[in-house]
Amino acid sequence: MSKDHIFREYDIRGIFLTDLDKSTVVSIAYEIGRLLKDQGEDSICIGYDARTHSITLFEWLSLGLGANQIQIYDLGLIPTPVAYFATFDTSLQTRNSIMITGSHNPKEYNGFKITLFGKPFYGKEIQKLKKSLIPFENLPLMQTATIQKTTILQSYIDFLTQHFQSLKNFPHKIAIDCGNGVAGIGIIPVLENLNIDFVALYEKPDGEFPNHHPDPSEEKNLADLKQLMKNQNIPIALAFDGDADRIALLTSHHSYKGDELAILFARQIAREIAPQTPIIIGEVKCSQVMYDECNKLGKSVMYKTGHSNLKVKLKELNASLAAEMSGHIFFNDRYYGYDDAIYAGLRALELFLHSSVQAVEEEIFSLPQLFSTAEEKIPTQEEKKFAVIEELICKLNHPPKDFPPILDLITIDGVRIIFEEGWGLVRASNTTPVLVTRFEAKSKEKLQEYKEQILTLLNT
Ligand SMILES: [Zn+2]
Repeated sequence: MSKDHIFREYDIRGIFLTDLDKSTVVSIAYEIGRLLKDQGEDSICIGYDARTHSITLFEWLSLGLGANQIQIYDLGLIPTPVAYFATFDTSLQTRNSIMITGSHNPKEYNGFKITLFGKPFYGKEIQKLKKSLIPFENLPLMQTATIQKTTILQSYIDFLTQHFQSLKNFPHKIAIDCGNGVAGIGIIPVLENLNIDFVALYEKPDGEFPNHHPDPSEEKNLADLKQLMKNQNIPIALAFDGDADRIALLTSHHSYKGDELAILFARQIAREIAPQTPIIIGEVKCSQVMYDECNKLGKSVMYKTGHSNLKVKLKELNASLAAEMSGHIFFNDRYYGYDDAIYAGLRALELFLHSSVQAVEEEIFSLPQLFSTAEEKIPTQEEKKFAVIEELICKLNHPPKDFPPILDLITIDGVRIIFEEGWGLVRASNTTPVLVTRFEAKSKEKLQEYKEQILTLLNT
C-alpha cells in the first residue's frame, strides 16, 4: 500500500502499524539522520506524547538515527512545545527535535512534528524526504543508537515558573482540562510553584482518551469543563489539546476563539512594548475585526493557515505574535515564537492581573459585531482540491453579472474574497481531501448572500 498520504504539509502522520509500520519509520529516521550528518549535525532530541504506541515509535526512530551515528537525547513523555523548547534551550546544544505525537487526532493515529536546524521541517522538505527514502531492507542498520536521558522538562517548568512570577498568588481560582493528553505534565507543576488555586480535569495522560476527544477547538469537548466552572463557581478555565500546542480560554460567559485571543494578546503586548508597536500575524480564516483591531495597535499581516507556515513567517517578519483560529498561538514577544498552549495559557492568566474577568469579557463583547459562519468543510477529491480553487479564482476574475462587487481577492491560501460588507473564504485543506469555507459579514442577510453566491459559483 502506498504510504504517500502520511507525508503531509506540516508533519508526518498516520495510523500506527497500518501507515506507520517499522520499516517505514526506520527508513524515515535513517533519512533524517543522513540529512543531519550532511549538514554536520550529530544530535537530535526526541520526545513523545501519551499514546500507547509512542514508545515503540521512539525505538524505531532511534534505530534509523543510530545507524547514522546520531546522538539521541530522550526528552521523555512531554508536551510538544517542550520538544521545541529543547532546541532553543542551551542545555542540550542541539537545534533538532522530533516530537512523536498524534496531536488532537483519534487514538490510533500518531506522527512526527520535526524541527531541524532550528526550523520547522515541513512542506517541500517533507516531500523531498519521502522521495529520498531508502527501502528498509537496504539500510545498513549496524550501529545502535546512543541514547541519553535529559531533564529538559524540568528546565521548561523552571523557565515558566521564573517567567511568570507575576502570577504568584493569582487572585482567581482556575480550572484546566488536559483531556488526558500531556498538558498537565507541563502546566500543573508551574501552577503549583506559583501557588495558583486550580482544579484539573483529566490531567492523567492516557492514550486511550477515555473522557473526551483531546481537541478544545470543538465546543462539545469543553462541556465537562464548563460544567465544572458552573458547579464550583470558577471564573476562568484553560483547555488543551492532546499534545498541548492548542489552547482554549473560557471565562464565565465566553469561550474565546483564536482570533479573539489574538486581539487580547495584541493589546497586552502593545501596552508592554510601547512606544514600539507590535506586528500581529493571523491566518486567512481570522475575522476582519482581528485585523482591524491589530492595525489600530501596530500592523497586522494575513498569512497561510498551518503551524509551520506561521512559525516561519513570525521569524521572517520578527512579529510579536501569530494566531490560528484553532488555538495555535505563537508568542515571539518574550518567548521563542512557537505554538505553546501552556505558555499561551499562562499569558492568558496575565490578562486578569490588571482587569476583572468581566472587563476582559467586555473587551470582546464591545468589538464590532459581525456575523460569521463556523468553519465548514466540503468533501472533495485529494487530486482535485487545488485545481478546484484555481478554477474558482478564474471564475471570480470574471464574475457573473449579479455577483456582489468584489473589492479584492486575496490568494495567499485558497481565496479570500473581499466584499463591501464582508468576506468569504474557500481554501483547500492541506491535510485532508476537503475544501474549507468561512464567511463573515456586517448583517445576516449579507452573510447569506455572500455564502450563497460563492457556493453557487463554486458548483457551476
Ligand atoms: Zn496539537
